[in-house]
Amino acid sequence: MKKIVIAIDGYSSCGKSTLANQLAKELNYVFVDSGAMYRAITLYFLNHQVDFSKEENIVNALKKIHLEFIYDREKQQSFIFLNGKNVEDDIREMNINQNVSKVAALKLVREFAVAKQQQMGLKKAIVMDGRDIGTTVFPNAELKVFVTADVDTRVERRFKELQEKGIETTKEVVKKNLEERDFIDSNRDFSPLRKASDALILDNTLLNRDEQLLLVLKWANNIINN
Ligand code: C5P
Repeated sequence: MKKIVIAIDGYSSCGKSTLANQLAKELNYVFVDSGAMYRAITLYFLNHQVDFSKEENIVNALKKIHLEFIYDREKQQSFIFLNGKNVEDDIREMNINQNVSKVAALKLVREFAVAKQQQMGLKKAIVMDGRDIGTTVFPNAELKVFVTADVDTRVERRFKELQEKGIETTKEVVKKNLEERDFIDSNRDFSPLRKASDALILDNTLLNRDEQLLLVLKWANNIINN
């Protein structure tokens, strides 16, 4: 059967990773959450107090960063490891949310992450979600989806998710963070968040997880079977 690359891009907290993860399971593909890589790099920078206003510091820090996704069969989920440690929980904390877009805007950081992402896509059969997957990482992806949702719906979803994880915050803080990240992501110099011209738009404001999955699965199967 034909193997394809599926790129899922869009604004913060649109449910891209959930969709990408479900799609990968249905198609028996590899799922890669590219945002987790930028988050793990940010975690390293913060933990090691890397002053990223100096290129030399970024170069030296990146040399010491080893990122790996390891699939846990029991939990049916893949986890990101930074230098051998599972940092999946640490990278979802609010201090990472507040710094990740600044780190992800750095050219050297993007080059480092994009090279790894492209390597992971060499064998195809992959679903990757992020901000620049359809435009920069896999410009030739067979299926590109650009996800959007009304901002208040996104705030509600993210707030609920953080609450479930026991992370204390308010809806105002969540909204401010989403808007800030979207602004930085859309306005940075290197591969800003853009809809690829050949991406299909998925507005999931009024769709639940199953409904959006069915729709995108139909798009994917149309390509795989033709
Ligand atoms: O997807 P997630 O919200 O976890 O991504 C965290 C941050 O990483 C984004 O706000 C963005 O700044 C950055 N990012 C990026 N390019 C990607 C994926 C994420 O710049 N492909």
